[in-house]
Amino acid sequence: MRLILLGPPGAGKGTQAQHLVAKYGLVQLSTGDMLRVAVKAGTPLGREVEHIMASGALCPDDVVVAIVENRIEQPDARKGFILDGFPRTVAQAQALDRMLSKHGLALDAVIELKVDEAALIRRIESRIAEMTAQGRQIRSDDNPEVLHRRLAAYREQTAPLIAYYRRHGLLRSVDGMQTVENVAVEIDRALDELPKQGKRPSRAIGKKSAQVRKMRRPKAGRKTRGAERSGAARKAKLKAKPIKRRR
Ligand code: AMP
Repeated sequence: MRLILLGPPGAGKGTQAQHLVAKYGLVQLSTGDMLRVAVKAGTPLGREVEHIMASGALCPDDVVVAIVENRIEQPDARKGFILDGFPRTVAQAQALDRMLSKHGLALDAVIELKVDEAALIRRIESRIAEMTAQGRQIRSDDNPEVLHRRLAAYREQTAPLIAYYRRHGLLRSVDGMQTVENVAVEIDRALDELPKQGKRPSRAIGKKSAQVRKMRRPKAGRKTRGAERSGAARKAKLKAKPIKRRR
């Protein structure tokens, strides 16, 4: 199964991804985590994105697309994965479509966690306050000012993906304001409702699946150009018109 978890920062994508990892044995591919590892390790990539991440803005598309492509080619991602925090722009979604179709893969669903922004801000602010009171380390981009910028980036650059994936018939929306357990139940239900493997037409965006092509193939006998070319139609035509023999 190949899934995308879509939602603003703090919507609970990471928590729900862990539930899906445990339930379906998928790997969680979080671009935020991968970028943080690079920053911590001080790699050239890490140094390039450090200040961008700290400001709450999005990193360049080509940078994140390259790390995702490299990651989905790893053997552990073969049995399926959950993309958490990627794609975040329409350009990234289009790059993902190209990348998957190049590898003969397709997405099964995009789960949107729908949340109320004002409630989300309150939720994150109280989490930050709690962690600070406990003396726990908080992320450098986990402060109210940066949070507002990350939410604005979501609204402007990522939210258009909701319409993008709805158009492709992949979107499943879940109320993310419920308890963690109830959100997980709703996600499970949405995934259970997906057509079962094998019966499902491929969702490779931009490519017609074999099943769709088969469904559209004209039946023999219909008066279409395709039917004219089919063997059955040709035989019927020969029967109707006796061939004149030359003497
Ligand atoms: P996250 O942990 O997913 O909230 O990501 C933390 C930060 O990493 C974001 O605020 C961005 O600066 C950067 N980031 C993560 N994923 C992406 C992505 N797909 N595209 C651009 N920037 C990203």
